[in-house]
Amino acid sequence: MTRLIGELLRPYRGRLSIILAAMLVQTIMGLVAPWPLKIIIDDVVGDHPAPAWVAWMVPMMGADTKIHLAVAAGIATVAIAVITGIAFYVANYVTESMGQWVANDLRVRIFHRLQLFSLGFFDHNRVGAVLSTIMTDVQTIQSFASVSTLNLITDTFTIFGMVIVMFVLRWDFALIALTVLPFLAVFVFRVNGLIKKATREVRQRQADLTATLQQGLEGIEVVQAFDRQDYEEQRLVSASNETVTAWLKARRVSSLLSPVVGLAVAVCTGLVLWRGSVLVLDGVTTVGTLTVFLAYLAKFFQPVRDVAVMTNSIAQVSVGFERIRSILEADYVVPERPSAIEPPPFRGDIEFVHVAFGYDPNVPVLRDISFRIRPGQLVGVVGPTGSGKSTVVSLVPRFRDTDAGTIRIDGVDICEYQLHPLRRQIGFVLQDTVLFRGSVRENIAFGRPDATEDEIVEAARLANADEFIMRMPDGYDSPVGERGHSLSGGQRQRIGIARAFIRDSPILILDEPTAALDAESEESVMTGLRRLMEGRTVIVIAHRLSTIRDADHILVVKDGVIAEAGSHDELLARGGIYADLHRIQYR
Ligand code: ADP
Ligand code: MG
Repeated sequence: MTRLIGELLRPYRGRLSIILAAMLVQTIMGLVAPWPLKIIIDDVVGDHPAPAWVAWMVPMMGADTKIHLAVAAGIATVAIAVITGIAFYVANYVTESMGQWVANDLRVRIFHRLQLFSLGFFDHNRVGAVLSTIMTDVQTIQSFASVSTLNLITDTFTIFGMVIVMFVLRWDFALIALTVLPFLAVFVFRVNGLIKKATREVRQRQADLTATLQQGLEGIEVVQAFDRQDYEEQRLVSASNETVTAWLKARRVSSLLSPVVGLAVAVCTGLVLWRGSVLVLDGVTTVGTLTVFLAYLAKFFQPVRDVAVMTNSIAQVSVGFERIRSILEADYVVPERPSAIEPPPFRGDIEFVHVAFGYDPNVPVLRDISFRIRPGQLVGVVGPTGSGKSTVVSLVPRFRDTDAGTIRIDGVDICEYQLHPLRRQIGFVLQDTVLFRGSVRENIAFGRPDATEDEIVEAARLANADEFIMRMPDGYDSPVGERGHSLSGGQRQRIGIARAFIRDSPILILDEPTAALDAESEESVMTGLRRLMEGRTVIVIAHRLSTIRDADHILVVKDGVIAEAGSHDELLARGGIYADLHRIQYR
């Protein structure tokens, strides 16, 4: 944790020094502030001769000395207030800006890290919980950095200053005051552990709440279609209730801090009162000293109380850091060997050699998958739902890494290639094309951001999308909504195909691209797809056998293994799974 904090603060060393300097000035001004009053009382109103340094600072000593002193004291009071004000302003603004920028850096860092992760991370972490960390945990750290750091620094300065002053004033009283500190420290340490535990629970519940909200809103269509609003609401209510319960549990502990510190202060004050009055009675010390000391005692315990109560914020911040670190240090970055090479343009020879994979290492999903695809071939993959077809193709661009076996493209293990150039040579059209909020043009150019206007229009034309795009009110500039809701399924797929055209990759993966479409839009999408597949190595997962009738090779996946392989006619003649599927579909 300290390493992370160090890394985060390193760029802001300059600001930190400014903050420290400003706080120091503020503390010194606080100590100096009562002095003009003392000079007025002792030297102007009273008969004390002004100390030599005061006389030196106020020129023209003589008959008017006292008046000059009074004027100087007045000016000094204003000057101290001005300097304190400037220091306060600087410290406040600079601390706030540091807090905001540190939070900004953290958000960017977490997001950057997430982009590097394989999809395995998202198999194991809910998006809502990750969102909650990026927003809430970062926010906790930001507000601590912006507000509490200041108090923490002033309080530390003040505590040290006061201890020194008290020892100079009366060391025996000072010792009494300090005896309570070790007990307080032990108590705060214990409570800190409890608060941290409770806070972890709170953050966990809050993350659950965000995840529930996120899922509920994202699936609002399904929820309404199935008329399950009550059910969703119930889920939200219980997640929300649990958050409240967890909060209150944490509060029960943290609310103890202030009264316990108060009690400790009272005990100390009582001891000083008792010992003090005995000493006054014995004539060892004066009533004045005792009064002054009690005043200091109050001033000393205020920051002690603040620091103790801040345990709560500190516990929250360290839990926030824990959660952020669990993302930053999660081991899901797709490893790229130092010796990795930039792949040459692929010919499209894909080979799986005894590949095994499981989302959960103990539950194998794919076992001993071996096959070979020659450049330019069209390979169909069929099989029952859940048999592992999508999993097989997700291994080619290394969305996930194999547990055993090797995948080669053009004869080289894909782990020997640099990741991004590898992915750039693989195009996708999936069952559901995700569109981002933006114009149609931007969504097509998503396949390659530097695509020219002509390329975009050409891609749309080839994808059979040009015609419906031109009918939209603003053509290529028409906005599409979040998740592409304003477009029909077939239209979205055609934009997905245009994207793949723009990408123009030698290898193309199609995962049931027409599964969600009606017969009419399927035909229109298929026209685009057929153009797209030309001249590339294509793996197509097909739900309808008609799509792959002309495939060069067909793999039948069942229960994570390749159960049958061959051409359409060979597989039919064999009378196995494929023949059964065929019979069902063409009955
Ligand atoms: P198919 O595409 O053939 O329908 P998949 O490859 O999607 O099948 O899934 C194969 C198996 O892996 C299924 O049992 C499925 O439940 C499981 N699975 C798929 N995706 C995930 C995931 N992200 N996390 C865990 N298990 C998964
Ligand atoms: Mg699938």
